Amino acid sequence: MSSSLSSPSVLLNTGVQMPLLGLGTYKLVASEEVLRAVDAALAAGYRAFDSAAVYRNEADLGRALRELLPKYGLTREDVFITSKLGPKDQGERALEGALQSLSQLDLGYIDLYLIHWPGTQGLAVADQRNPGNRAQSWAVLEELHGQGKLKAIGVSNYTPAHMRELMQNCKITPAVLQVEFHPQLCQRELRSVCEEYGVCFQSYSSLGKGKLLTDPVVSEVAKNCERTPAQVLLRWAVQQGVPVLPKSSNPDRIQGNARMFDFTLSDVDMDRMSALDCGQKYCWDSSDVV
Ligand code: NAP
Repeated sequence: MSSSLSSPSVLLNTGVQMPLLGLGTYKLVASEEVLRAVDAALAAGYRAFDSAAVYRNEADLGRALRELLPKYGLTREDVFITSKLGPKDQGERALEGALQSLSQLDLGYIDLYLIHWPGTQGLAVADQRNPGNRAQSWAVLEELHGQGKLKAIGVSNYTPAHMRELMQNCKITPAVLQVEFHPQLCQRELRSVCEEYGVCFQSYSSLGKGKLLTDPVVSEVAKNCERTPAQVLLRWAVQQGVPVLPKSSNPDRIQGNARMFDFTLSDVDMDRMSALDCGQKYCWDSSDVV
């Protein structure tokens, strides 16, 4: 028996649906911790999981899914797995890096594979070899997409300038741009670039790495709706059609974070939260990468 995707999804330009809710896995490292988090997530209806070569948990994630999918009557096709090419593999090592992700996950194929970062590890942000390296990586991703190993390909942490450069040179339009997005970082320009090119805009660090959970406006909106601050932050994103990847290692929080599809924020509350926009980044900043 297999069940279909439990959470609402968004249609990618590949024609495939991607769940609006995925479990972030950055900092889930010990295999027991990954297993427990994946178990709680599958039980709570998560059908997408976001990993990366640099998180060093691809093998543990793949193992956890192979072990746990049957417990929930699910098959490989019922889940959507994202991973990312590490900055150290940008450029001439891209093929090796992507094949390594495929082999570490060992799930047959990867649903979405992203270039994690526009720069290259070991090169200065202003190094003029950066554009050539990311073009070389993109060509490798296109090749592996053509072979069916990477069902969709995309990028992460690209600025509007990186996106325009890619659009001028790519054979395949990226399916997804994954960037930091929350009420303090509304990314208006990047969202309109994605809309223009038909690229799905996806949020990471939707909770501001946990720092936004105590913001007074977020707390007040949460209190008024009788929801948790995490739920209203996630709801704020998905109500705009933006997919989210909250990370937690705590089974109760994993379950609670998933409860964002059974309530609506009023226009007033949406606007109050969006008014927090101040360009605050809690994660890394790629704006200086040439
Ligand atoms: P996040 O999801 O914004 O916040 C995670 C933090 O919030 C953790 O410390 C977690 O602690 C805590 N938390 C989660 N739910 C909570 C709740 N209900 N109540 C209280 N605390 C809660 O941060 P993130 O990990 O930076 O981003 C999420 C995912 O996006 C990552 O895991 C990764 O998959 C992806 N990401 C991608 C990039 C990229 O460059 N492409 C960068 C950053 C993140 P506990 O674990 O203790 O619950």
